[in-house]
Amino acid sequence: PLLPESEASGAPEGDATSRNPYAGLVSHLRASWLSGKTRPLEYRTAQLEALGRFLDDKKQQILEATASDLGKVPFEAELSEIFLSKNELYETLKNLSRWMKDEQVDRTLATRMDSAFIRKEPYGVVLIIAPWNYPIHLFLVPLIGAVAAGNCVIVKPSEMSKKTERIVAEGLPSYLDKDCFAVVTGGVPETTRLLENKFDYIFFTGSPPVGRIVMTAAAKHLTPVTLELGGKNPCYVSDTCDVTNVARRVAWGRFFNAGQTCIAPDYLLCTVEMQEKLIPALREAITDFYGPNPRESPDFGRIAGTSSSGGCRGCCAAGAWPSGDRRTRRSATSVRLGGHPRLHPCVEYISGLEKIMTGTGCLARKVAFCTGGRSWWDDQGVLSDLRAWLMPSCFLAAAPTVLADVQPSDPIMQEEIFGPILPIVVITSTDEAIDFINSRERPLALYAFSSDDKVVNQVLERTSSGGFCGNDTLMHMSMPSLPFGGIGNSGLGRHHGKFSFDTFSHHRGCLKRGMGWEPLNAPRYPPYSQQKFGV
Ligand code: NAD
Repeated sequence: PLLPESEASGAPEGDATSRNPYAGLVSHLRASWLSGKTRPLEYRTAQLEALGRFLDDKKQQILEATASDLGKVPFEAELSEIFLSKNELYETLKNLSRWMKDEQVDRTLATRMDSAFIRKEPYGVVLIIAPWNYPIHLFLVPLIGAVAAGNCVIVKPSEMSKKTERIVAEGLPSYLDKDCFAVVTGGVPETTRLLENKFDYIFFTGSPPVGRIVMTAAAKHLTPVTLELGGKNPCYVSDTCDVTNVARRVAWGRFFNAGQTCIAPDYLLCTVEMQEKLIPALREAITDFYGPNPRESPDFGRIAGTSSSGGCRGCCAAGAWPSGDRRTRRSATSVRLGGHPRLHPCVEYISGLEKIMTGTGCLARKVAFCTGGRSWWDDQGVLSDLRAWLMPSCFLAAAPTVLADVQPSDPIMQEEIFGPILPIVVITSTDEAIDFINSRERPLALYAFSSDDKVVNQVLERTSSGGFCGNDTLMHMSMPSLPFGGIGNSGLGRHHGKFSFDTFSHHRGCLKRGMGWEPLNAPRYPPYSQQKFGV
């Protein structure tokens, strides 16, 4: 092997297993990687095809598990979990042999007789940590890139989406080479222990606070990371646009998966005149999509609970949280509204809404409409009305809600919403919208709507974000030809298609020289003399 075993495994001395339960696994995968078996195109292709079979065979189970874990609408699950993953797989299989080829580069005068190229090499043993909101897509799409690049991989799916986690843990290993790929399950304690090991690359998708924890752990081993994080994605709507189309495209992006999408438009920026036009148009779009009572709609998702994880069925009613659950150890004072489970999502959602009601005292006046859920916002009994929305399964059927005239200082403008609520912040001009965007953390996605291409370009040129989509929402992430990733607080690095392959490949700069032509080297050898260069 290229590395001594102790360094390769990262295992401490002494009772290694109890101190570091994953050391043996990491060491085994590293030995497989060092054997070179993952390098040939045929091997990688066979593993990728096996991932395709996993998706085909388990499709029905996946749709049922995501419905049970997250209240996911089957059509949305099929589109986001299955179709987009297969699309990525198809793109990768189609192009892999080309991507793997050495890239010839320009040579200098001194190396013009030689061979200079970039070799795309696997990093080694890769760790992929995934979140719960798209529990298949968000481990599988990076896994496709890591396998394509010839790495050995440990996948750590989210413990929040329990049934999906089980399908991955019990089903996936039988499709892949067990010497090179493994699934580790668990929550914070397990992930913490896992992160003590030396990996060659870590790919993390999740929240910015946990991203910091992962990056700190990686720094100990100088392990490179990709961090796919979240944040508040602005959506600017200029005065010149087709309001009906804008409303439909925004409503789809905001309310897909009940708003639990990292690139969902988080808030709208527009003039007061446009706000007046948008509110009825959004109401119409929402009613068109989900009917007058979205709670009854089979096409409207749920705010994820964890009833299927066995952790908290009934805890909402009792007002108690399961002990040992990582969410209970996080701040109970979060004003976050959405399903991001710092607390039980339902509890968090309710307490977030309560806080907004009582904390600012006046936000109720800002509710432009709340389709099928008007009573949430009565001054009395907000909590009990919300509880009436709790499904027997412990999911929250949160009503699509649009808030008007929201102030930048309002609680809802402080954190990623991750739920079906759309605040509108009024600005007076495109310049003011740009200043507003630039005064905040750089988002994962940024949207700009205008029938004037100059306005879309103006927003594009004067702002910074992970990705950008003009005149639509979410669609940019469906293209494997575009890099997907954040910047600043929304993440580090990129993936999808060739960008994934490159992310998981070390680009090794190589020069192969011939043994002859030695007189050409004479000028560089001591004793040094300008004359040797003919100066
Ligand atoms: P999370 O950060 O709480 O958890 C993500 C993963 O990290 C899980 O597997 C979890 O087990 C693990 N984890 C959690 N706490 C940990 C700790 N203290 N130490 C070690 N590991 C820990 O995120 P989440 O709630 O599962 O997902 C929602 C977040 O993910 C949102 O912020 C959303 O915007 C973001 N997200 C980003 C993308 C993207 O592509 N950029 C995609 C989906 C979700």
